[in-house]
Formats: sequence, C-alpha cells, structure tokens
Amino acid sequence: MRELLCIVCPNGCALHVETAPEGLRISGNKCKRGAAFAEAEIVNPVRTVTTTVRTGFPGVPVIPVRTSGEIPKGKIRELMGFLASITIREPLEIGSPAAENVLGLGVDVIVTSNILREAGYAR
Ligand code: SF4
Repeated sequence: MRELLCIVCPNGCALHVETAPEGLRISGNKCKRGAAFAEAEIVNPVRTVTTTVRTGFPGVPVIPVRTSGEIPKGKIRELMGFLASITIREPLEIGSPAAENVLGLGVDVIVTSNILREAGYAR
C-alpha cells in the first residue's frame, strides 16, 4: 500500500495505491486524472522542474527557468547539479533555451522571465 497526494489539481486528493493480481488498485481519487497520476507515480514518476540559474549580469544574479517538459523524478538531483554549474552570459528572453537537451533527456531548460531585458541587458 502506498499513500500519495495527487498534485494534478488543487483538490489534493489523498490516493491509496495497492498492488493487486490484476494490477494497481487505486482509490481516493475524485477523477480519472488522479488514477493516471497514481499509476505514473508508481511506474515512472516525472516532474517539470522550476528553478533559477546564475547569470553573469551584475544587476540580475539569477534568472528563473523551467524544464520544457517533464523529466524522470530520479534525474532531478542531477539536473540541479548541472544547472548549478552553468552561468547565463547572453541576454536571453523569455522562452529562450538556457540549456538544450539537458542530461540527454530530450528536454530543454528555458528562461521564464524577461528580467534581463527589463534590467536593460537586452541586445
Ligand atoms: S484525483 Fe482528480 S480531483 Fe483529486 S486532486 Fe487529482 S486531479 Fe484533482
């Protein structure tokens, strides 16, 4: 038996997952999306990662970024280590890739703010 908190919507249903001979037995979900979430959490948990990356611009020491898609939950620590090792030196705008195909996962890390432009660092 595993207890999970569904994070698909703000309801935050408490999910119960049991392994049964016919497969997973999921309860506590108010909708089908919760069952799909629970199954994915058991089989292959993934997350979209939101964080910040260091820049070389004195007035904007860090810039917000997120992954362009979901990555395996087990790769988050490695991703954070990689992102801690890079510095953005171009005046990237919102939607621009700060890093492409990170860890070979087929997912980019994209800038989610125009803070560099707003701070006067645009080209
Ligand atoms: S089970 Fe459905 S209603 Fe409940 S938190 Fe998940 S998505 Fe929302």
